[in-house]
Amino acid sequence: MALIFQKYGGTSVGSVERIQNVANKVAKFVDDGHQVVVTVSAMSGETNRLTAMANEMQAQPCKREMDVLLTTGEQVTIALLSMALQAKGYPAISYTGWQVPIQTDKVHSKARIEHIDGTKILDQLGQGKVVIVAGFQGMNPEGDISTLGRGGSDTTAVALAAALNADECQIYTDVDGVYTTDPRVVPQAKRLDQITYDEMLELASLGAKVLQIRSVEFASKYKVPLRVLSSLKEGGGTLITSEENFKESEMEKPLISGIAFSRDEAKLMILGVPDKPGVAYQILGPISDANIDIDMIIQNQGVDGTTDFTFTMSRLDAEAAKAVLQSTANHLGAREVLMDDEIVKISMVGVGMKSHAGIASTMFKTLADNEINIQMIGTTEIKISVVIGEEHLEVAVQTLHEAFGLDK
Ligand code: ASP
Ligand code: MG
Repeated sequence: MALIFQKYGGTSVGSVERIQNVANKVAKFVDDGHQVVVTVSAMSGETNRLTAMANEMQAQPCKREMDVLLTTGEQVTIALLSMALQAKGYPAISYTGWQVPIQTDKVHSKARIEHIDGTKILDQLGQGKVVIVAGFQGMNPEGDISTLGRGGSDTTAVALAAALNADECQIYTDVDGVYTTDPRVVPQAKRLDQITYDEMLELASLGAKVLQIRSVEFASKYKVPLRVLSSLKEGGGTLITSEENFKESEMEKPLISGIAFSRDEAKLMILGVPDKPGVAYQILGPISDANIDIDMIIQNQGVDGTTDFTFTMSRLDAEAAKAVLQSTANHLGAREVLMDDEIVKISMVGVGMKSHAGIASTMFKTLADNEINIQMIGTTEIKISVVIGEEHLEVAVQTLHEAFGLDK
């Protein structure tokens, strides 16, 4: 007997029939003798529908009331799922986040979980019930309803699994696992059987939008084995776990597990800035003060006492960052500020990446063979990223996927 936590996303509970399908899935685990705790999202589209109504009431809807409003979506699905299970003869009980309670900090609309009291859940499991907990919500120190940020039901499920020492936390969604890259770009992309937390974090943050990033951080911190799988299609999905837990049968981890990419990139260059101590700080200080996150940074070797400085950020922030940088440029007496928002970032990710030089040379040769110019390069322990022109994205990802044998 195992203690299994499951989370079903909005698409999986998007209609009465789909909720009944979820009840059937849960029932199978109960039949196999497991204890099951289920977390659900609101029906697909519901959170957006509620948000749109709020926007008609107030230009900037009050955050406290927003949390009261949005949490109703999950309150509907927990009750319906509980009824569906009861109708099939499986005892079940639903709880909102504040009934558990799941205690959070007081930041409305993106609260962090601080404490979970598992007593009620364990008690109900002990009575042979399936326990259903609303995703995405909790209670703050004032006793007010809070929410965990969009996509927060993943985090609820993982946090519950961590607090109650689950054997596995299964995240059911509309994809059947984590792929070597986006199958819409490379139809030969393969589903990965296993991946490490660190790799998943890189792939998630780079656009493989399978799981809320915070939920993976949580799982990694508390070593909760996470499995991503489809609620509509049979299959084992992808297990996300620590490197130590990789099955012995996997002879050796492949060098590269996947290729992530992001189209949401822009780069800013400031040319001809004085090459002296403190300049990088003077350039990036105001950017950070404007709450703009940056990603890659390059500073050229100085020539003639001046240097060039380039950095990337989200395309959404590019115009704002450019304005800030322009005023810094005037102040520093720099020659010019340039912006390019027709770039993308491609990253090869793999904990098995022992020699960066080997991977990098294959990567660069592949791009060169396709006449693709590399504009920027960055590395971390488990990834190598390049910035290229956006018109090259498809060819680059397809040829790299093949060059590293990810389709095999
Ligand atoms: N219903 C919330 C959302 O749409 C939370 C979730 O689905 O995870 O963001
Ligand atoms: Mg979701």
